[in-house]
Amino acid sequence: MSEPMQEIFDRARAVIPGGVSSPVRAYGSVGGVPRFLASAHGPRVRDTTGREYVDLVMSWGPGLLGHAHPEVVAAVQEAAARGLSFGAPTVAEVELAEAVRARVPAAQKVRFVSTGTEATMTAARLARGATGRDLLVKFAGCYHGHVDALLAEAGSGVATAGLPGSAGVTAASAAETIVLPYNDVAALEAVLAERGDQVAAVITEAAPANMGVVPPAPGLNAALRRLTAEHGALLVLDEVLTGFRVGPAGWWGLEQHGRGGGTEAWEPDLFTFGKVVGGGIPLAALGGRADLMDLLAPAGPVYQAGTLSGNPLATAAGLATLRLADEGVYAHVDAAARTVSDALGSALDAEGVPHRVQRAGNLFSVMFGEAAARDGVRSYAEAQQQDAFRYPAFFHAMLEAGVALPPSVFEAWFLSAAHDDAAVEQIVAALPAAARAAARA
Ligand code: PMP
Repeated sequence: MSEPMQEIFDRARAVIPGGVSSPVRAYGSVGGVPRFLASAHGPRVRDTTGREYVDLVMSWGPGLLGHAHPEVVAAVQEAAARGLSFGAPTVAEVELAEAVRARVPAAQKVRFVSTGTEATMTAARLARGATGRDLLVKFAGCYHGHVDALLAEAGSGVATAGLPGSAGVTAASAAETIVLPYNDVAALEAVLAERGDQVAAVITEAAPANMGVVPPAPGLNAALRRLTAEHGALLVLDEVLTGFRVGPAGWWGLEQHGRGGGTEAWEPDLFTFGKVVGGGIPLAALGGRADLMDLLAPAGPVYQAGTLSGNPLATAAGLATLRLADEGVYAHVDAAARTVSDALGSALDAEGVPHRVQRAGNLFSVMFGEAAARDGVRSYAEAQQQDAFRYPAFFHAMLEAGVALPPSVFEAWFLSAAHDDAAVEQIVAALPAAARAAARA
């Protein structure tokens, strides 16, 4: 197969490490040459040769409404005409914080940053500042951005590359993070019984989607809440990926309405948001209990700042996105995700490829292998045991058919309100040949 992107990829690798600005984009685990994109509209992206693909990456989550929604683009253009960045407070920040709190009341106060990484980094510092304790607890396979303390056994690109963590993280930093298996309340109970008085926070993805999709067992998040409270540790719910995507109030909102398998009402101390809340422009947020949030500078002693934080283009895109993301949008994304994930399972069944399609709200991914098919995947260790070798052939067959999947088996598939019947049908029509490719792999 000719590789029209080879030349630009070579040029990219000469000046950018790996040729990309974020590792998974390099197609490392699926092989081949990444598509360099020129434009994106609705459910489709177009590469520099003009070839179009139905997109199931959607910028890794922000594109809830589809690419370049006209009203979001107009809001950004209007904001841009008024100035690109002020380094001073704006009304739009206040409105966006109010919009976040209206959907997630437990986010009583909100601080805007530019990336999810900054949000979780700040959450960790705030938790340590608030409790006077040093230790963090995270779960293997959960990804919280490239924060030193949170890279151990992380998901996403760290999982794709099969790394235990990252070079350059000091031993001291790693020693302050305890990594536990996901979906294992007993492991957390044991750690807290022993060292609970040293734990500043437990951080968890609201519904993990960075080791593939591994939903929390019913009642897990509520149990994390109960245990952390018992030991005076904070609970940080990372909704960077799930927030405003799986429902109007994120995964937390689904659990409060009994739709995420939740059994009781509960609130974390802190939330992190990103992706959808910035509508595709760099913006993320930390939110939570007002007494904790008021520990952030300038109100309190925990320092945090950002030259471009609350950037007017980003707040305009975020506000427009949240205004447009009504119940109809979520119903559409849910239905499209159901159709595609059902068709994915049927296509693999038809070819006798052992697998399990795992879902968390409108997020889903496929786990290959007998064990996954039989028992499902509940943890990172189980996710890593899958037959990941089947994915590259599957991925490239879909790409050939004009469907761009996430270039790693450890990532969720993202649908949007712009995935209309034509886009969904193109995905569904491509699945049987991809399943055959996976069967032969
Ligand atoms: N937390 C979660 C759950 C994420 O999925 C991500 C990114 N995929 C992050 C944090 C980090 O966000 P960012 O890439 O914007 O730094």
